[in-house]
Amino acid sequence: MGIQLSEPARHGPLSEKLPTVATLCSHSSLQIFHGARLEGFPTLGISRGPPPRFYDAFPLGRPDKFLPVPEVREIAQHADELNRENAVLVPHGSFVEYLGPEAFQRLPVPVFGNRAVIGWESDREKERVWLESAGVLMPERFTDPSQVDGPVIVKYYGAKGGKGFFLAKNRDGLKDFRPTGPHVIQEYVLGTRYYVHFFYSPISETGYRVAHGSLELLGMDRRDEANIDELYKLGAQEELLKAGIRPTFVVTGNVPVVLRESLLPQIFDVGARIVARSVDLFGGMVGPFCVEGIMTEDLVFKVFEISTRIVAGTNLFVSGSSYSDLVRPQLSMGRRIALELKAAREQGRLGEVIS
Ligand code: AMP
Repeated sequence: MGIQLSEPARHGPLSEKLPTVATLCSHSSLQIFHGARLEGFPTLGISRGPPPRFYDAFPLGRPDKFLPVPEVREIAQHADELNRENAVLVPHGSFVEYLGPEAFQRLPVPVFGNRAVIGWESDREKERVWLESAGVLMPERFTDPSQVDGPVIVKYYGAKGGKGFFLAKNRDGLKDFRPTGPHVIQEYVLGTRYYVHFFYSPISETGYRVAHGSLELLGMDRRDEANIDELYKLGAQEELLKAGIRPTFVVTGNVPVVLRESLLPQIFDVGARIVARSVDLFGGMVGPFCVEGIMTEDLVFKVFEISTRIVAGTNLFVSGSSYSDLVRPQLSMGRRIALELKAAREQGRLGEVIS
């Protein structure tokens, strides 16, 4: 028997009728609606203002209904309408970001996954405690510039798209750094970035076992990040800095990647450690999460971040990926969420996958 996630319930019980899969119209919503539709769920899109027109261009990803709200921050005021629809909200990056982590945690509507995870993921300090205590390797962190012995990246807390991040080749390069807010100085890891899309099911009884459920690898991507990815075309960073151009990491798109097969055991070990520790710390993650890290030339994977919900890189794999094809044909992350809801409902275990 798994863990019941609602403690205490922030919402009423779902009714007997089929839940409506609902999310904010943004980020990975087309894929979430498409997957829910394939599994027979009604769908509802919450739009800021009138429904976005581009949904008309994607009939298989368009929700059955829209709930327009003037501001995303006002969603809680529409809780009655959502509960009348028997809605289960699927969180994605933009949903949580626009609403704010605290407001998201308090929403009086059922949410897919364990919302306790948000408190651990949205705070970089707590995230590090979670990952390091799980035995996951992270980039080294320096509390004082005098400790720096190689290239570093300075990150501001809550910086969107790495805006204002500062890169230095060595300790000397940090002399020009003038902090403008709370930040961390981190080892700049040289290697190849991978964003690994996992799904953890606490109710599945087959597959790669972790805690009382199973861990699935459904895809991988790399992010296209402007303007850092283009810097090499214009020459060395110093030259750009002279011209007043600072590197940024604003995500503009995603590209599919696969890892050397011999590195998969390492990646599964990292995913399993993160899940197992989440069970000890806050009752466990449920559903999609993304491990974001860098594989070094020594084939060591260092994790700089995790996202504990569906990431936009999964949009590459609406009809499956090189990995999910080996789990089940045509399996997107959106569809995997719908399958989990369906299985939990059939087994009377919804309380283990929604909170
Ligand atoms: P973050 O805000 O932590 O997701 O970082 C934004 C981007 O900065 C990532 O997508 C990476 O491209 C890059 N990055 C973050 N941390 C590191 C690191 N320790 N070493 C090298 N690159 C990094």
